[in-house]
Amino acid sequence: MFFSSKPNVSSPGYVVMKTVDVAVVGSGVGALTAAALAAKAGMSVLVLEANYLPGGCCSSYWRKGYVFETGATTLVGFDPGQPLALVRDALGLDLPLVKLDLPMTVYLDGLKIPRIQNPDEWTETAVRVFGPQQRGFWKTALKLSDFVWRVSGKNLRFPPANFADFVRLPFNNRPSDLPYLRYAFVSTRKVMQKFGVDDEKFLRFVNEQLLISAQSVADDTPFLFAAPALCYTNYSNYYLKGGMIGLAAALIAKIGEFGGEVRLRAPVKKISGEFVVEIEKSEAVRAKNVVSGIPLWNLPGVVDGPLKAYFQRQADKLRQYWGALSWGIAVKDTLGDDLHHQIILPKDRSLPHARSRSLFVSLSMRGDKFRAPEGTRVLAVSTHAENPVSWFNDPDYERKKAEATEAMYRVLEESLPGFERSSVWYELSSTPKTWADWTFRHEGSVGGLPQTLKRPIFSWHGAVTPHPRFFLCGDTVYPGQGAPGVTLSGIIAACRLLKRNPLL
Ligand SMILES: Cc1cc2nc3c(=O)[nH]c(=O)nc-3n(C[C@H](O)[C@H](O)[C@H](O)COP(=O)(O)OP(=O)(O)OC[C@H]3O[C@@H](n4cnc5c(N)ncnc54)[C@H](O)[C@@H]3O)c2cc1C
Repeated sequence: MFFSSKPNVSSPGYVVMKTVDVAVVGSGVGALTAAALAAKAGMSVLVLEANYLPGGCCSSYWRKGYVFETGATTLVGFDPGQPLALVRDALGLDLPLVKLDLPMTVYLDGLKIPRIQNPDEWTETAVRVFGPQQRGFWKTALKLSDFVWRVSGKNLRFPPANFADFVRLPFNNRPSDLPYLRYAFVSTRKVMQKFGVDDEKFLRFVNEQLLISAQSVADDTPFLFAAPALCYTNYSNYYLKGGMIGLAAALIAKIGEFGGEVRLRAPVKKISGEFVVEIEKSEAVRAKNVVSGIPLWNLPGVVDGPLKAYFQRQADKLRQYWGALSWGIAVKDTLGDDLHHQIILPKDRSLPHARSRSLFVSLSMRGDKFRAPEGTRVLAVSTHAENPVSWFNDPDYERKKAEATEAMYRVLEESLPGFERSSVWYELSSTPKTWADWTFRHEGSVGGLPQTLKRPIFSWHGAVTPHPRFFLCGDTVYPGQGAPGVTLSGIIAACRLLKRNPLL
């Protein structure tokens, strides 16, 4: 029995099972981070997850003896001061991480471009591939990226929600940091022009690299966001042995250790009053606080009362979002050692029903027997889908999916070293419709919000809402997507909930 206290009938329609200090909606990495930090601080915590597995877009699932990743495959954020390192150290997380020698390989016009972690070696590689002007561009990008990582981990009350938060900003930051902020208003393309690196080949490279990180392209992405996105591979990149679900599992273990509970197959149907959290099967809990880790778009469908209209207005502002086409493939191991590959298509090619011109391919590590039996590997392949909503109720759904799959295999056969379609043993494909079934996210929109000039940094929704005891985290609030981004959002939500730095 999940609930320990005796149920009492409180109103028609549901039975209130118990009262907790904080109910956490969803078990994405953002929500679990907030939950674990709150539990560590002594709060009674209950996490409610709709799916049968935790972790949402950063998770794994089992089929036919293989472990496939749902979404995230690359992992950064464990360098000193970065969000995952801060949480790992604060909670004492035990994670089977393996540091990668080469974070990523990019394939462009017949070139194989190693995205080497060492900044100097990477800059020299960029010079060799794209020309001598690259030095100035990467020097600025790397400096700005370090700045973004440094300040984001220190500003746990960002975006400011009140006068006191504004007053605090100069104390957390150095006056010498101010000049960097101008890059929040300058497009990446403009910076490329300034450094004389705005040629067609480098622009295609930058656009596809930005799409998998900032979810936007050079013309639209402020350089302040583009710098950490482009320099993603210049930090320590890790492989999590056994699958990305290990991150959620480690956080859940800590929640349990600190006396909290995580309940799976427990979709939150309605949050009303202050607060009754209704779960399927006519159960409910009373919560003094709520932390939501589900996207802003989902909240109007769950929250009742005045907050509902507020969340609807916020969700309406987020009109631009992506869906994903993704595949999990089990193959005979004829592949190399490098794990992450971005294959950029030739200029005149596109992928049917996709909106980016590249495929991102991640391999399970050779020897990770938990994920694939010896002699086999698992591939995760993904790209941005065309208009996510167009995949729902479409009579041509199966045909579109098959066309995208065929095109994906052609690209792998042409470009991924060692890949042979004949060695594929098992395959699963996902569209925005599948993503909606897995994560319940509105229209299957995943991957985070595009970081564009149209959404300046101060306009991002933060953890604070009009209700002083209702908080937000996850990839539709500041600082946005990716495991490190949502981890930081969870730290910030815990900071607001506890009214103190949760890492101390
Ligand atoms: C294809 C793809 C590739 C990616 N690659 C990377 C990568 O390589 N590296 C990286 O760092 N990031 C990557 N990302 C992004 C990253 O995975 C996400 O940004 C991040 O995991 C989102 O976390 P979240 O906290 O917002 O929660 P989510 O992952 O969105 O989880 C939300 C959870 O809430 C649950 N839920 C929804 N509604 C309810 C409800 N009513 N009641 C209870 N539970 C509910 C869902 O079931 C889900 O488990 C990728 C994403 C995708 C889609």
